[in-house]
Amino acid sequence: MERIAENLYIVRGSGYSSNSYIVTGSKSYAIIDAGLPEYSEKIIRAIRSLGLESYPGYLILTHMHYDHIGGAENLKKMLNVQVMIHEYEREYIEKGDPLNTVALFFNISNLRPIKCDHALHDKEVLRLDGLELKIIHTPGHTIGSITIYIPSSKALLTGDTIFENGAYGRTDLPTGDIKLLIRSLEKLSKIDAELLCPGHGDVFRGNVRQLIDLAIKYAKEEI
Ligand SMILES: [Zn+2]
Ligand SMILES: [Zn+2]
Repeated sequence: MERIAENLYIVRGSGYSSNSYIVTGSKSYAIIDAGLPEYSEKIIRAIRSLGLESYPGYLILTHMHYDHIGGAENLKKMLNVQVMIHEYEREYIEKGDPLNTVALFFNISNLRPIKCDHALHDKEVLRLDGLELKIIHTPGHTIGSITIYIPSSKALLTGDTIFENGAYGRTDLPTGDIKLLIRSLEKLSKIDAELLCPGHGDVFRGNVRQLIDLAIKYAKEEI
């Protein structure tokens, strides 16, 4: 675990696992993405070392892909977190649909259903003891992909929508759509951000708008 901004920590994913981020309030916390199941212990240790395990916690999933949700069941069991995903992907995780969660890449034929405790919608604001997390619906990589914006640290947590080198998430998997992705990136480019925290790879600090504009340029060339 590494602190990347005030109230914001990264637990780096390795191999195929996504990164996880921990956002800390004074008496509550949010985990953004669970990563693969073998990665849960690392996240639980991080929550314990921050002294947060007895407080209410939320697990916000940026989208339904297995490399982001695989550890959700473990985190629910060990930390009793409330699981949240965009309303368009609730059904997929609750059905344990292996096609739409892309569990097939990981040789998992019977993905266990994950109960969604709260379905998120665009523009929803979650509060951790006064710290705001804004939910932005950014479909394109998948239909219910979200980006989380933390105004106090000017951070965007983008899941697989855009990465630190200006690459964007693939759109050839079920429910992916390049045109929707471009529209989502255009939406993100209007946000005042200095830190981009993607679902894979490194964090980007600096001119986030320029980075997003670069991704939009690449994406438009693909159409
Ligand atoms: Zn993905
Ligand atoms: Zn991913």
